[in-house]
Amino acid sequence: MRDEDVSKMARMLLAGGKMLSLHCAKCKSPLFEYEGRITCPICGEQTGEAKPKPTEAEAVVAPADIESALTEKLNQLVDEFRGEKDRHAISELLELIKSILDVLEKLRKG
Ligand SMILES: [Zn+2]
Repeated sequence: MRDEDVSKMARMLLAGGKMLSLHCAKCKSPLFEYEGRITCPICGEQTGEAKPKPTEAEAVVAPADIESALTEKLNQLVDEFRGEKDRHAISELLELIKSILDVLEKLRKG
């Protein structure tokens, strides 16, 4: 992702936009809900009224995107896990890590 695109997204966030788990059909950037509409911060593509049903949102997100989001979260959890001293927190983190790995495996199997 280019710095220019990142700053466009940051501006939209600061202006009150909310990042969605949807991607622009044109440029693949994450879409934002802004002023009641779903808007692409990069190319300005508008996809209509905000508030899609969760099932619709899920259908639009490609498996590869889910996989990369899960992988990113997994890395964060693993870092947290390494530094954690509390026994309860450790077991909670371990459960989360395991469930993410489980989902990733299911995704890979298709
Ligand atoms: Zn776009």
